[in-house]
Amino acid sequence: MDKEIFELGSDDGIPMNARLPSLGYFVCLGPVAPPGKEKYADQNVELNFTGKAGTASSIYYSLFFQLPKWDWFIMKADEWIEVSPTHKEYYDRTIATKQMLESTIKTGLSSAAQAVADFELMNHDLRKYKEILNYFAKKDEHSLKAMFVDQVDVHTDVSMVRTIAPRWPTIIADFQRLSDEDVNPDEIAKKYNISKAEGVILATKNRLYKQWKDLFGASVRERYERIKGLVESRRKSIKEYRKWLKPYIARFSMTKLGGERVGTRASTFKSFADITGIASFANVIRIYAWRFLRTEETRKPAAEKKEKGFAVYPYDEYIRENLILHPTKGLARIYPWLRNPRKYCSKCNEYFPAGVVLCSKCGSTSLTDKTMADEIVEGKDGIIEQWKKGEMGLDPFEMYYMITDFNIERFGTRLPVGELEDITFKMRNFVVSQNVLLVKILELKCRDIELERYIDEILGVRVEERHISEIIMDEFPELFPQKEPSGYAKFIKELRDSGKAYTNFLKKIKAPKTDKFMFFKPGPYEKDFLERLTKQYARIAGSYFFTVVKFVIAQMGVE
Ligand SMILES: [Zn+2]
Repeated sequence: MDKEIFELGSDDGIPMNARLPSLGYFVCLGPVAPPGKEKYADQNVELNFTGKAGTASSIYYSLFFQLPKWDWFIMKADEWIEVSPTHKEYYDRTIATKQMLESTIKTGLSSAAQAVADFELMNHDLRKYKEILNYFAKKDEHSLKAMFVDQVDVHTDVSMVRTIAPRWPTIIADFQRLSDEDVNPDEIAKKYNISKAEGVILATKNRLYKQWKDLFGASVRERYERIKGLVESRRKSIKEYRKWLKPYIARFSMTKLGGERVGTRASTFKSFADITGIASFANVIRIYAWRFLRTEETRKPAAEKKEKGFAVYPYDEYIRENLILHPTKGLARIYPWLRNPRKYCSKCNEYFPAGVVLCSKCGSTSLTDKTMADEIVEGKDGIIEQWKKGEMGLDPFEMYYMITDFNIERFGTRLPVGELEDITFKMRNFVVSQNVLLVKILELKCRDIELERYIDEILGVRVEERHISEIIMDEFPELFPQKEPSGYAKFIKELRDSGKAYTNFLKKIKAPKTDKFMFFKPGPYEKDFLERLTKQYARIAGSYFFTVVKFVIAQMGVE
């Protein structure tokens, strides 16, 4: 929450690379000079409007209702509101809204907390029954008999522990030796070389034990199924609560009163409010809008169905290493957990926790090393999957996109003549290769994931964080000795680790990262910058962008 943006066109984010060796690996072309220095079409525009209260907001709404009609996809990256106590009415209204949000969240939280408590209780029972079912599944007569003696026999008048064992200390050991067929006292006495009297007691106990086993087995199965159903339904309702609470908590956390917000953002408000002393509220909204950019004549001949249904696969090794996972230059600088190791089974397309050595689905031991970023991008319901389905304005056959970065500042001011609203649209338009857009989408997902984690923290849920295989490990520790891979699995793991070190080394020599190596084919994207990019992509992007700019101007009524 409250994290900086991985900026387009910035050395701390995705740099403009017109003249950098990275051109070709990706493309990021955007405005160079500050607004005012360039013309409208030059991709950097600042428009300001001041009007009566409400008029500025209506421009905002009409713009973002219009954009989707022009095939732009819109995603809000950030928003914050600050209200100054100098405008009492607005301040009170905002406080009231905030309190309303707070109480809604609290009610939601207490219901959710109940669901979490239920879930944990039932999960505990579930594990207990699972363990007993295991005895039955593995025909573990020893454990079952021990349970019978401990929990059933002890309550009878002739308890083996209380009344019999003092006389026949070996009775429990003898009972453990019996098999299901041992029901005849004489035969038992003969078979195990014990007295007839003990044989009578053991025959009775064994008959009771067999009856108990049948009844108990059936009821454990039945209970297990019932609790399993309840646990699943609680798990679902926790998820539902989280989904339901998310927008409330998001709104709650973005509404800050006075100086609640830290850092650079607060200074915007300060400069406005403290100096003039008349601001009522400041509202900053950050929105990204994107749209594919097609220039028929420059479309690469390679634009045919190739890797995984894409003209060119957007999640390439260069972007992954440099703009995503790189600890100081990549998105991982802001979201370090993107680098967290994960294991991946390519056969099942499943991701597992780092310690896992075999796939719980197919049993394969050839798991590859991946990261959290890989899972978010390529895993189930990941960005690539959405991309293939054409969601979020994405098209697997397009290689270039325009992204407009909207920075909208709205201020309310109260003057003796009445209330005024002031809005500034700062718009910067970029032409990017699809892999740059992927980085931005990943960033927006990271923001979303952090919000969900924050909500989980409030709820105290750890359920979703755990992978199903971890839960299985808990339930069948003897089947999944993950901590200490032994024998074959260990051998395979060591073999693989040594092989990996070798391939990593080879990869390093192959990857040209400096100028010197640039005569190697530098990635699939345009590298003929000045010729093609400016003349064709930028011209087309400029005309789309100009349409948007003109629309805002028309809404402001100053055309
Ligand atoms: Zn598998």
